Amino acid sequence: MIDMKSQIPDPGSPIPGMADDARAVIERAFADAKNPCITSSFQAECVVLTHLLQEARPDIPVLFLDTVHHFAETYAYKDEQARSQKLNLITLRAAEPQPGLWERESTDACCARHKVGPLFAALESYDTWFTALRREQSASRANLQEVEPFRLPSGQMIRRISPLAAWTTKDVWAYAKAHGLSLLPLYEQGYTSIGCEPCTSIPFDPNNPRSGRWQGQKLECGIHIQAK
Ligand code: SF4
Repeated sequence: MIDMKSQIPDPGSPIPGMADDARAVIERAFADAKNPCITSSFQAECVVLTHLLQEARPDIPVLFLDTVHHFAETYAYKDEQARSQKLNLITLRAAEPQPGLWERESTDACCARHKVGPLFAALESYDTWFTALRREQSASRANLQEVEPFRLPSGQMIRRISPLAAWTTKDVWAYAKAHGLSLLPLYEQGYTSIGCEPCTSIPFDPNNPRSGRWQGQKLECGIHIQAK
């Protein structure tokens, strides 16, 4: 039995230098960026990275994938953040959403329709894509680099920038606390990685924060896997 409250890290104080290292990555990326954006699922690391980016670019486009399957709490929190942080929020949605496709067909088909397709189509308009990915999150992200080329299905190359690649969960929570950022209330219920409601549960493995995603059946939805 997992003690839900124990899943929230004691934030402590921010590690000196972590935020400055991230700012340096951001500054270098902005220097070469004509058209940058960030994608946000409004999880803690997304909120922290958006806060860091807004120091330099308050109007950076914040792309939110509305999969039509999010928790009601996520939609409410997203709206509250958009207002309080004055986000330049851009909502992406499938042209023809199909609620429940994950159950009728497969999670791969559902993610392809509601996540991968709309995001990759939108990214055609940008040259620099900021993400809040972290190496610690998953084995599939262990080799993540701060700056990587990323090939879209059309063949267009963009840059994917992950300034928080080296951050731990504790670093994220410490930054949020130090800057007075409120976080998605679902963390209080024991969730540690929060996506669509049908595919998110309390983690089965307390040492693996993403073990509650897709019932442990897969690690990624596809938006961070680039075209060959
Ligand atoms: S995470 Fe689940 S509900 Fe969301 S798009 Fe993928 S399969 Fe569908």
